[in-house]
Amino acid sequence: MKHLKEQDPEIYRCIQEEELRQHEKIRLIASENYVSAAVMEATGSVLTNKYSEGYPGKRYYEGQQLIDQVEALAIERAKAVFGAEHVNVQPYSGSPANLSVFLAFLKPGDTILGMALPHGGHLTHGAKVSISGKYFHAESYSLEREGGQLNYDTLREKALACRPKILIAGYSAYPRILDFARFRAIADECGALLLVDMAHFAGLVAGKAHPSPVPYADILTTTTHKTLRGPRGAMILCKAEHAQAIDKAVFPGTQGGPHNHTTAAIAVALKEADSEAFKQYAAQVVRNAKALAATLLERGYDLVTGGTDNHLMLIDLSNKGISGKTAAQALDAAGLVLNCNAVPFDTRKPFDPSGIRIGSAAVTSRGFKEAQMEQIGIWIDTVIQNSTNGAVQAQVAAEVKELCRSYPAPGLEHLVG
Ligand SMILES: *Cc1c(COP(=O)(O)O)cnc(C)c1O
Repeated sequence: MKHLKEQDPEIYRCIQEEELRQHEKIRLIASENYVSAAVMEATGSVLTNKYSEGYPGKRYYEGQQLIDQVEALAIERAKAVFGAEHVNVQPYSGSPANLSVFLAFLKPGDTILGMALPHGGHLTHGAKVSISGKYFHAESYSLEREGGQLNYDTLREKALACRPKILIAGYSAYPRILDFARFRAIADECGALLLVDMAHFAGLVAGKAHPSPVPYADILTTTTHKTLRGPRGAMILCKAEHAQAIDKAVFPGTQGGPHNHTTAAIAVALKEADSEAFKQYAAQVVRNAKALAATLLERGYDLVTGGTDNHLMLIDLSNKGISGKTAAQALDAAGLVLNCNAVPFDTRKPFDPSGIRIGSAAVTSRGFKEAQMEQIGIWIDTVIQNSTNGAVQAQVAAEVKELCRSYPAPGLEHLVG
């Protein structure tokens, strides 16, 4: 980065220090990952200089000879990896992707039904503060008070009572596999379209470590930067019959020119996802989450639903006498970076809720296996037991740094040796 270093030392320094932070801390935020150096190179390429409103073969500006190839490759690879009939790779991120789906099928005031935000749903699934909750009539379903699982009979009753135009299956903080066949049946019974938002678990689907929702959904949205391990971006997958409505809703409905550097990086990530190595990564992500969950359960932690089937777990800290925010801050000081999170039926406020959320994708990308996950569980427990003890946090931070030295993250290998 010699040009950046010379021209803008302030930003250069922030990037250098962020690189170091990502190298020497253990990143447990469930939505984060490490992209490969190849994905990073595509993201930082001259494709950012090009405008290409429209779609391959139908653009408003000239000079699309190579952009069309890039976007066509991204689309073909996405269709192959997920077995989808149609894919739009242009959404800028997960939130605009969901907005485009709503624009394609809803009028203002129409009803949508999604998982409640404090129960693991996403803001864009109808939260009151989001456009999805302001412009549409948003209803929500909850998890069970006992056990924290999704009850499909209750969901069905809710859906039949409110008759949503779109039923949303998907989450940001639910540690279990959803029953997509059940969602399909409920959507059919109440005449709704089924939207599966697989932002969090798309990488596990691509790597065949999680059942595919693609055969069941009318439309799917996904970010590309979470478990899928691509650049920040999103895709919409759908049945052929909805292809035109989706494409029109993305452009010109909600967006202008696509981010071609991101499209290229999505194509690179999808090529990586179509490999044996990625299958191993996806399977290891799930094994790693289970190993950490087991370690925490042994130490008396209250995991929502009692465990995990995917890449994430949600821990209710109420029985440990510490709030989610206090725990997350103490853990950050100890080099273990995660986020506080509301738990179902939380009695605390969203900014300082009762829980923490932990994900295993980023650490798996840097090569951690079950043994390292068990060590992480022990560290988490030590820090939480000593949340006001700076010396303990510093000691754990030093041990974390030492472990990270042996596991250089993808794209950051230059920071060791
Ligand atoms: C992360 C996420 C999104 C939004 O993605 P952004 O890229 O942050 O806009 C949408 N839906 C779900 C379920 C998510 O987890």
